[in-house]
Formats: sequence, C-alpha cells, structure tokens
Amino acid sequence: MSESPSTSAADPRRVAELAANLAAVRARLAAAESQAGRDPGAVTLIAVSKFFPASDVDALAALGVSDFGENKHQEAVVKVGQVQASGLVWHFIGQLQTNKAAAVAGYADQVDSVDRRSLVTALDKGARAAGRKVDVLIQVSLDDVPTAGRGGADPAAVAELAEAIEAAEQLRLRGVMGVAPKGEDPAVAFARLVQSSRELRRVYPKAQQVSAGMSGDIEAAVAAGATHVRVGTALLGARPALR
Ligand SMILES: *Cc1c(COP(=O)(O)O)cnc(C)c1O
Repeated sequence: MSESPSTSAADPRRVAELAANLAAVRARLAAAESQAGRDPGAVTLIAVSKFFPASDVDALAALGVSDFGENKHQEAVVKVGQVQASGLVWHFIGQLQTNKAAAVAGYADQVDSVDRRSLVTALDKGARAAGRKVDVLIQVSLDDVPTAGRGGADPAAVAELAEAIEAAEQLRLRGVMGVAPKGEDPAVAFARLVQSSRELRRVYPKAQQVSAGMSGDIEAAVAAGATHVRVGTALLGARPALR
C-alpha cells in the first residue's frame, strides 16, 4: 500500500483478500445481531478507508459496501474524486479543524464528528456554498473524565449543540457517534452513548443513528444498540501507527 491513494485497478489478490475480510466482518456482525436479539442487517457497516487507496474503495463497493469513512480532509478530498463507484455515502469521522469544515461539507454526505458550535457554523456555510445538505452526528465524549485530545462533546453539551444543528438550514441532525476510550470496558462507554442518544431522541425523534464500535469492539457496540459500526483494520488491514 502506498501512502498516496492510487486509481490503478485493484490487484486480484487484493480483491480476494478484501472479499475474505468482508465476509468475516459480515459474519461477526450477523452473529452479534443474533446474539443481541436484533434484526439481521439492523447495523450498517461503514468501511473506514483512511490510509488505503481509492482502488480498495472501488473493490469494496463492488462487493456491496455502500458507506465509507475518512478522517483526514487532505486525503479524503483526493480519494473521493478518484473513486469510480457512484452512489456511495461518504462519512467524515475524524477530528475536524474549523478552517477545513467548509471544504469537507463540499463532498461529505455525513459528518459524524461534530463536537462544537464553531463546526456547526462552518459546515452550514460550506454546505450552502456547495448547494448541498449535509447529515451530521454529534460526537459525544465517552471518557468518564472528559479529556482533551480524542474529541467529542461533553454529554451535558449535547442538547445545546443539537439545537444549533437543527437551526442550521443546510444541516440535518441524524444522531450520535462515540469512540470507546482505550482501557475501559467498551460496554460501559457505549452505554453512556446510548443514554445520550435516548435523551436526544426524546427531543429529535429522527436523530436515530448511534455510531459506535470499531474493529475491536463490534460485538459490544451491537449489543449496546449501535446502528452503525466503523470498521477499518478488520476489513482493510493494519495501518501504520498514529492513524
Ligand atoms: C480509524 C477509525 C475507526 C476504525 O478503526 P479500526 O480499529 O481500524 O476498525 C473508527 N472510528 C474512527 C473515529 C476512526 O478514526
């Protein structure tokens, strides 16, 4: 894998590897849904394609994956333009600098990491300039003691942020997203996220999405009630550190 995404046709061995990984992830999801007493297919798989080339996105799209996640604007804007498949749903899942938000609103279908008011304003402005509507999730901090770095709004700030999003003409509030803190039982962290989701849905019944769970904690997320899981490593392979 080269650092710069490539448009070259996928190598058949890579396609076979992605197909096998996808089958394994789909089997894990199906088992987790069944274990949790949820309907088959209740949980949407987001393939986190960060670091991997556009050809991998096209290969996964050909295998039936519709949702893709990226976490860096500079990489995502190039890759989205290179991908051949149409009709994909692009999620921006990374911490977003306010000065890049308007550009992200030009190609992301959904921004899953909205955690402050300044981002709401910037995304709304960018979406208007691009003539688009953008779905958004509120990223909620799941740390028991809120800490800087990982991103995410304090659960106590969710209601105010939701109000700002609802007031933004080009944005549509779809739910919440969370990342389980390292070293903590993901079940405890995801229970916090589901509690935030419950409070949000009381006021905004359409904000149904609960995006929780990554390669290591798919099962805990599905058991807690996730509607979306974001899977990178288990689908595409290991990335260099710090991604
Ligand atoms: C990278 C990333 C993922 C995917 O993580 P894996 O452990 O590789 O599955 C999920 N969510 C966010 C916010 C990420 O940045």
